[in-house]
Amino acid sequence: MKNEDILIGSHCGMAAPDFYLGTVKEALSYEATTFMFYTGAPQNGYRKPLNELKIEEGYDLLKKSGIDETKIVVHAPYIINLANRSKPELYEGSKEIFLNEIKRTSGMHASIIVLHPGAHVGQGSDEAIKALIEALDEIFDVDGTNVKVAIETMAGKGTEIGITFEQVHQIIEGSRHKDRLGVCLDTCHINDAGYDVHDVDGVLKKFDEIIGLDYLLVVHLNDSKNERGAHKDRHENLGYGSIGFKTLNAYVHHPLLVKVPKILETPYINDKPPYKEEIKMLRAGTFVEGWKEAF
Ligand code: FE
Ligand code: FE
Ligand code: ZN
Repeated sequence: MKNEDILIGSHCGMAAPDFYLGTVKEALSYEATTFMFYTGAPQNGYRKPLNELKIEEGYDLLKKSGIDETKIVVHAPYIINLANRSKPELYEGSKEIFLNEIKRTSGMHASIIVLHPGAHVGQGSDEAIKALIEALDEIFDVDGTNVKVAIETMAGKGTEIGITFEQVHQIIEGSRHKDRLGVCLDTCHINDAGYDVHDVDGVLKKFDEIIGLDYLLVVHLNDSKNERGAHKDRHENLGYGSIGFKTLNAYVHHPLLVKVPKILETPYINDKPPYKEEIKMLRAGTFVEGWKEAF
């Protein structure tokens, strides 16, 4: 890996028999310089013990590859909702799962975990943001790690919170542990939330003014199947959605984002991962017309 290389990677799986070793191998097969993974199934909190996941083998391979371990990313399971206290058992359950996930992130030599801020389910955003802040503070009081939690910007589906930079700022501002918080900016989500994603400088300026660019830990790089403001959240492959390759490429090569890992979460094509081809186009900065047709 060359020093001047861009920080680009994708979501990678973690399946039997190689688990984490397989995750690292998958990332390298895409010629990625970073990657993101779930520490188990994305849709539940059931987790295999770390000692069954070939972590040290994977970590050895990662170090040999030159991938910077401080830039790899874990994604929390999406059943977690720390923003709704109307069902106490679900709120407490979410806290328990997330605390465990943070410890697993640290145990897997990663230091960033992306979290969906959650949905207010009728309680209103302000109450939801309060619930989230209190849950995170409680967890940070006891988790004993340095893992940073990157709050993901959401598209505004249903009753999601964290759909404006102001709300994300409110979450960070309210925390007793600001140093443990950061942000994951998802290009599909901000487009669907109503931001003018094509105005890259404008988006980053706004982000800096409202939240502060120091808090930007991860970019999720996705095209969108929907128009600006649609509040849908359906990812599309590079160059096949309403955002387009040129804009997404501008994020990848933007001088303010050099040190920020850019992670693709674009859909598989005919059951095959598109990431090697997408990374190649982004590294070169050139779109290959009709690339998806070859799958
Ligand atoms: Fe996400
Ligand atoms: Fe995302
Ligand atoms: Zn999404």
